[in-house]
Amino acid sequence: MVRRINLKSANVARSSTIRDINRQIILNHIREKSPISRAEIARITELQRSTVSLIVEELKNIGLINEIDGESSGGRPPQLLTLRAAHAIAVGVDLGKKRTIVAISDLAGRILEQEEFPTDPDFDNSMAGIIDSVSGFVKKNSGSIEGIGVSVPALVEPQSGKVLLIPHQNWHQPEIAEKLRIATGLPVKIDNDANAAALAELWFGLPEVRAVRDFILVLIENGIGTGIVFDGQLYRGKGGIAGEFGHMTIGNDAPIACAAGKRDCWEAYASERSALARYANLIKNQDGGSEISFSELVDIALEGDEKARAALKQTAHYIGVGIANLFQGLSPEVAIVTGTIVRAWSLIADEIKTGAESATCQSYPVAKVIPSTLGAYPTLMGALSLILTDKFASVSIT
Ligand SMILES: [Zn+2]
Repeated sequence: MVRRINLKSANVARSSTIRDINRQIILNHIREKSPISRAEIARITELQRSTVSLIVEELKNIGLINEIDGESSGGRPPQLLTLRAAHAIAVGVDLGKKRTIVAISDLAGRILEQEEFPTDPDFDNSMAGIIDSVSGFVKKNSGSIEGIGVSVPALVEPQSGKVLLIPHQNWHQPEIAEKLRIATGLPVKIDNDANAAALAELWFGLPEVRAVRDFILVLIENGIGTGIVFDGQLYRGKGGIAGEFGHMTIGNDAPIACAAGKRDCWEAYASERSALARYANLIKNQDGGSEISFSELVDIALEGDEKARAALKQTAHYIGVGIANLFQGLSPEVAIVTGTIVRAWSLIADEIKTGAESATCQSYPVAKVIPSTLGAYPTLMGALSLILTDKFASVSIT
């Protein structure tokens, strides 16, 4: 798996891979601060001007960056470097429980175009739709797509890319990567959605996340998934199932049962489904039920609906309780919450904090929790980053 190099300490690295490290550092600076001059890169990285120039030439030769004229202040305009970002490099497939999003992005992780359709409960139908959409994008961008990244709400064996089971659809060992590879002839990478989103935060999140070396991403959906990053690298554990904290025990009277039928798991207390169950409970005897989606619940809470707000706040309390447990066990620098619930951050941030405080034993530091910095499509960004991060991490020049 790709390891993001610590930019803070990499300039003291002394090893045979120093050239690769420097190349990655320079490429990342161009991605983040584009347009940028060679002199500026040398100043920020404290690398020799000659080293910067040499690597910039290599990156230009393999077509990863472009040179443009900057603003002239009289004489010759300064030469500035930008990422070659005009065309699509990666296809991302975010295979969700209810909807599937297929998108293309450039090297900088900017989404250029996307299509969205309901996830068909039948696996073959669903794959036919995905292959159709992906093939359309590949054909339209003749030759420029280098790979397909897929994120799934499931356990994935990281080495083989085998999906074990997608519980929501009851798809056993669905051959997603294999079918996409055969249909398109392109490399396919597939990972669990929370892991993929954690990878995207690490590489494409805002600076407050990218400066962090150890964090836990908490994906709140129908269930709860977590992605663990230690020292700039995804931690997967044996068989790739690390991060199944959705089933840690929080209490014994959750408003719903978890996917495995238990009322004491974190996801039974703090998932989207639990918030909907709390809301249904609060409004009963009024209009007789709540057939609304979680996104609609967030909408009406933001519009001021008191019961919707109460349901979200109670849920947020338990998000905080679970995160406090993760902090006491793993001690990351920060937990990042992602999912639709992040839209209601202004309503829930305090409840998450007090929930975390209530579950933190005396003398332990209280968890630091922030919302995702990836925007509206964290797991789609995750799918894309499975392809894009390779590009940044291992520029192979032969
Ligand atoms: Zn459970």
